[in-house]
Parts: sequence; structure tokens; C-alpha cells
Amino acid sequence: MKWMQSVYTFGACRYHSGMDTSATSFIVDSLTRAIVEHRLQPGAKLVEQKLADQFGVSRTLVRQALYRLSQNRLIKIEPARGAFVASPTADEARQVFEVRRMLEAGMVRSFVQHAKASDIKTLQTHMAQEKLAVQEGDVPGRTELLGDFHVCMAQLMHNDVLAQLLSDLISRSALITLMYQSSTAAAHSHEEHEAIVRAIKARDANAAAVLLDAHLCHVEDALNLSQYHSVTP
Ligand SMILES: [Zn+2]
Repeated sequence: MKWMQSVYTFGACRYHSGMDTSATSFIVDSLTRAIVEHRLQPGAKLVEQKLADQFGVSRTLVRQALYRLSQNRLIKIEPARGAFVASPTADEARQVFEVRRMLEAGMVRSFVQHAKASDIKTLQTHMAQEKLAVQEGDVPGRTELLGDFHVCMAQLMHNDVLAQLLSDLISRSALITLMYQSSTAAAHSHEEHEAIVRAIKARDANAAAVLLDAHLCHVEDALNLSQYHSVTP
């Protein structure tokens, strides 16, 4: 399998090193961390010239970084107004999880039927990376890897439409997950992924579907969306 492309931009160094200059990746990573750590609030305006001065780079590089962040919805670029940190609503996040539950229950059933032993190995390798990121408290890294687990399954089914749909859905709620998923919830997610893969390995489609559905409910509940107030720019 060709190395999967992450659904998030903030793993820039890990996944996109061949495609981008390291300066762009550095800006993408720094801005992502600033958003995760609440130093940049949802709705905050990002001024190109100011960022160029702060990072000591050209505006072109800043623009590239902002564009990359906008592709994954962490940042919204508005014509004639500029770039803003995205402010996804709790409703949007709930809708995303509802569609994911519909989509992924069918996906995991089909995966159980068609997965080769090597596919299951690939998922296990991915989980080893997840475990490391969770243990190290690497918030952007773990959010990315936990999301990628789901996309990884879609890619192993060689269904590009499914993989793209899922990437898009996951990145829609990426900002909320990044900002509101606790370390405990992340560790719990990882354990649930392990249980799902055990059911897949045992070729138990029903168990895998039930576990996946419960997992998505847990992730959504743990984000505590009722407490989430979006800020409009
Ligand atoms: Zn998950």
C-alpha cells in the first residue's frame, strides 16, 4: 500500500515532507499548535504580513501555509476579508458524527468480509503509532493518528470515494476534536480501536459494527458539545 495521506495538515513533517518546503510545514505546525493550545481563538483573524514578520518568511510562504490549513478547515479564507481561525458549531460536529456512524457501520462490515491478513497488519502498525502519540501527550499527532485510523480502513478497501468522504467528514470536526478531546478520551479511543481490530481479526462483522458505533458515540459524548460555544469572527 502506498503510504496514506493524512487527513490533517498538521502532520506536515510526517506526511508531506516531499511536497512542501520545511518553512511552510513549520508555519502550519506552529499555527496548529497555537490553535490547539487556545492561544489563537476560533474566529481570530490571521494577518499575512504580521505572520510573515513573526516567522521571518515571505508572505508567499505564509499564504501557502494558510491555504493548507484552509483545505482541512482549521482556517477559513474569506474573499476580500482574509483568513480566520475556523469556528465550527456544535451542530456541525453532531451532524458529522451522525453521518460517520451511518457510513462507518457499513464500512467495517464490508472490511471484515474482504480484509486480507496484510490489511489487518497495516491497521495494527497504525495503532502502534497511535499508542506512542497518546502516551507522549502529543495532541496534534494523536488527533491526526486517531482520525487516520478510520480513513486507513477506507483506503485499505481501495475505495477512493469512501476514503475521501471520510477524510472530509473527519476534518470538518478536526478543530473541535483538537481543542476539546482530553488525554483520557484519546487513550480511551485508542483502546476502542484495539477492540475493533480484534473483532475484525476474529471476522466477527456484527461485533465490529457494534464496537465502531459505540466508539463514535463515545468520541462525540466526550467532546462535550453542549459546553461548546462557537465564536463568529
Ligand atoms: Zn476512532
